[in-house]
Parts: sequence; C-alpha cells; structure tokens
Amino acid sequence: MIEVEGEKLLVIDSHIHPPDALDYDHRYPHSFSPSLVEELLARMDEAGVDYVVMFAVELDPEGYEHFMESWSSHHKSMGRMILRMVNTPNEEVKEYVKRSSGRVVGFGSINPHLSEESLEEKIGIIKDYGFKGLKLLPTIQFFNPADENLDPLFKLAYREGLIVTIHTGCDPGPWEDPRLSAHSNPKHIEKVASRYPGLKIVMAHMGSYSALMPGIWFEEAMEVAGHHDNVYVDIAAVFSRRLVKEAVRRIGEDKVLFGSDYPAIGGYCDRKTGMVNCVRWAVSFDLPLRVRRKILGENAKKLLSL
Ligand SMILES: [Zn+2]
Repeated sequence: MIEVEGEKLLVIDSHIHPPDALDYDHRYPHSFSPSLVEELLARMDEAGVDYVVMFAVELDPEGYEHFMESWSSHHKSMGRMILRMVNTPNEEVKEYVKRSSGRVVGFGSINPHLSEESLEEKIGIIKDYGFKGLKLLPTIQFFNPADENLDPLFKLAYREGLIVTIHTGCDPGPWEDPRLSAHSNPKHIEKVASRYPGLKIVMAHMGSYSALMPGIWFEEAMEVAGHHDNVYVDIAAVFSRRLVKEAVRRIGEDKVLFGSDYPAIGGYCDRKTGMVNCVRWAVSFDLPLRVRRKILGENAKKLLSL
C-alpha cells in the first residue's frame, strides 16, 4: 500500500522478472537462492507494492538458430546472448511463488513451437504450480500470434482460465530493429481477441516499447484494445505520461495496468531503485485519484481475482 493524497492505495506491479533476470549466467538451478526472494520482497516493501506478477520465459536458443539465419553476424551473436540471458524456466518462478506467501503471482511460459501433446503437458505443469497466466513473446520466441499454429495454445489457455500476457513493441538488442520485431505489432492480436472473447489478454508495453521509436505501435494497440473488452494493456517500459493518459481516454480507465518491468531497462527501472521509481512515476500521472487507484492496483486485482 502507498498513501496518496491522504488515501491508501493498493499497488500491484503486473510486469516483473526475477531480480537476477539480466545476469548473464542466470539459469535455474545454478543461481536461484532464497535470498533472491528476500531481495525482491524488500524492494516491494520499499516501493509499497503489495503484489507482483512474475513472468517465466522459456526459450529454446539452439532450436531458434534457423530463425536467425538471414541475420547479420553481429545481430546473431547479440540475439544468442539475449536468448540465453533471459531464459527463465517455470520452475524458477515457482520458487518465488512458493516462498512469498502469495505476494508473487506466477505467470508461466511455454515455447510455442512445441507439439500439441507437449503443450498440453506444459499447461498441466503450469496449472500445478498455481500460476494464473502465461507470458508469450513473439519477438524472442519467434512466432506470430495470428498464426494458425498458435491456435491450440490459445485454446488451452482459454480452457484452463489462464490470462495471456503478450509482449508488444520492440525488444532490446537486435529486436530494436522494428523489422525483426514485426510479430510484436499489436495488430496481430486482433484475430485471437475476436476468436476467444472469453480469453483475457494483456498487451505488455501497449505496443509502445522501442528505444529508437518510442510509442512505435501505440495506435495499433489502442485499435485492438479499443475494439475488444477482453484486451488490456500494461504500461511497463512505456516511459510516457502522455501515452498513458491517452490510453485511459481511448480504451477506458479499467483496462490499463501498472507494470515496471523490474529489473530491466537501466535508468528507468533497475534492480535497486527501479520499482520505487516506477511507482512514484505512476503516482504522478495527471489523472484523477480514482483513475490512478485503478491503474496502480484495482484493475489488476480484479483481473487476477486477488
Ligand atoms: Zn518484461
């Protein structure tokens, strides 16, 4: 909880990664230790954050080599490094959920290129771990959400009542090139959203993250979220008060969720002070307190049934 203008506000950070997510050698079980959970809870307490949603990110760096075939050798080596670095198995997120007395809500990850049978098995594991959703990244998992091959995965998520957060916008490294991040244009989510009106979808970064062109696919994100009641956005790594305000006006105050992207994005959100800074940033939005209360926590509370 935080106190703003004499009122107590619930704070839910809908978009975080483990504290060591950017360490190069970060791989379960090599680096996980209970002290990381303590570190995270300490950061949450400093920032006044009551709950966080932590994402697993399961990748297959070797299996993805052929997707990078046409890339320059510089892009390839950066791409490989990032794939190895951000790989976060479901088992790792499970540890945080287990040790945080409910304050860490887990979102699982599935490599979307798995066979239907393996998908089914993975979903079973994710349900067993008590996760409430799935995180998908069209950039570093090399898929297009509109592709028919993804249908079995969305169908399973819907059947199991899992929320699906989909990365939108560019991504660091080679994926700063919008051509390499084209699958993360929010327009590709339109089809899934209309096909499964009961599936709750969150567009992470509301199509806007890009170091080169901030706000890159904001329009597309507003189009899709504006047309579909089941589509929400999070404001992680958006950096723009103006865009957040515009999103509230265009898609409504009930569909915008606070997120920090802790511990990512130096300067804006880092491992030490990032969460505190992000909460302060959101508190200062030029929006009525009623709306800030919803963005900071109430919308996510409803969505996650907390
Ligand atoms: Zn993230």
